[in-house]
Amino acid sequence: MDARAAYDDLLRRYAELRDLTSAAALLSWDQETMLPKRGAAGRARQLATLAGLRHERFIDPRVGERIAECEAAPGRFDEEERAQLRELARDWRRATKLPKELVEELAAAESAALEAWRDARARGDWKAFAPDFGRLLALIRRKVAILGFEKNPYDGLLDEYERGATEAALERLFADLRARLAPMVAAVLERRDRVDARVVRQRFDEARQEELAATIVRAMGFDLEAGRIDRSSHPFCSGIAAGDVRLTRRFVADDLRPALFGVIHEAGHGLYEQGLPERLDRTPLGEACGLGVHESQSRLWENVVARSLPFWRAFAPVAVRVFPEQLRGATAEQLWRAVNQVERSLIRVEADELTYNLHVAVRFEVERALVRGDLPLADLPGAWNETMQRLLGVTPANDAEGCLQDIHWSMGALGYFPTYTLGNLYAAQLFEAAQREITGLDAAIARGELLPLRDWLRAKVHAHGRRYEASELIERATGSPPTAEPFLRHLKTKFSAIYGL
Ligand code: ZN
Repeated sequence: MDARAAYDDLLRRYAELRDLTSAAALLSWDQETMLPKRGAAGRARQLATLAGLRHERFIDPRVGERIAECEAAPGRFDEEERAQLRELARDWRRATKLPKELVEELAAAESAALEAWRDARARGDWKAFAPDFGRLLALIRRKVAILGFEKNPYDGLLDEYERGATEAALERLFADLRARLAPMVAAVLERRDRVDARVVRQRFDEARQEELAATIVRAMGFDLEAGRIDRSSHPFCSGIAAGDVRLTRRFVADDLRPALFGVIHEAGHGLYEQGLPERLDRTPLGEACGLGVHESQSRLWENVVARSLPFWRAFAPVAVRVFPEQLRGATAEQLWRAVNQVERSLIRVEADELTYNLHVAVRFEVERALVRGDLPLADLPGAWNETMQRLLGVTPANDAEGCLQDIHWSMGALGYFPTYTLGNLYAAQLFEAAQREITGLDAAIARGELLPLRDWLRAKVHAHGRRYEASELIERATGSPPTAEPFLRHLKTKFSAIYGL
């Protein structure tokens, strides 16, 4: 076949695969938001069938022949087409290593573990989750062994979420962050009485919380005609297809922060999905670059923007209008301080910016031991609690607020957590660059004008899909390779101001 015709055929096939992925994503979204309990077993089968079908179509030997035909004639393609081919070929080479049975077993084991996790977490009982998780873990180990890895099996897991990340590099990063954050955390906690968060710790009606969140999400430029917001136990964002990006929210009655910042976080992910260019829709490049960059978008909006003083200058009056009784007379400064309260806390998703990466470090330690085989599943809660005590100075009272709090392991996502920390670093670096390039950015935010920032992110990050690896994308967007310095500067400036360091 002519190289040009081979290319067109490959992209046509890829678009079909993408539709199957979309259908599976919709089934997963439904499982999290709508599915009746007794539908879980059937859903696990449906997802396994779809995963198997997609896999089978992808590893079709004709796909390999077309790739070879294209690779033999690189001069026939422009730079973007070569990037399309590179991504497609990489995915294909990975996929062809995996037997279809393993792909189906993994999909089924993930659904089963997810249901087991839900029950186990409700009861705070790790033992109720361990058997299903053990089966899933065994399959994941098999997958990593088949796919191969740089140095350690954990590298193979990381590769799935953040290409180029290694266990060794992350170990150094976390050691450095811990060393530099520890004195800041200690200094802030000594002055903990300087922040009074009672104003955000009252009863807040669900419908009004939703109204406030939707106002902010709209101001961020999230298009609700190309997306929706529903309720789930664990907030997430699913970019199902172009024009269909779904966020979920949760509800906490006695604290304004968790649900609000949860929605803003997911909307940050949602803007990335909505910002992927239409031109690249259903093509190999038409996807996010990796999870670190995805997380940089959510964390940038959640923390760097929505936990800033300019943001509260714009949105404190809105919040006061929505909650006239609870927030009467509350000032921007007061709300800004309250949403930046630093605590030794148990729950990652509710953690402040200063201690957040320590929560990630706990997971990084525990799951590495698990993957190395040094940690029997029965001992995991103990190891978790010990690590929490060592890094954060608190011990969970039960597994629900300890090792069962996150959904990730039940979805087979091991090696995922470090991308949260990478996202924090990228977010601060991107925002510094945006401040340099957008004149009057802080003043615009203080007027509630968030679109200039969204548009900058769209041009610098979203528009490229997965054309570049994370480090290259960050360097192109900001002018320097990824580094922790902007993040540490951001924390130092903010918490010095709030806590009078
Ligand atoms: Zn996220």
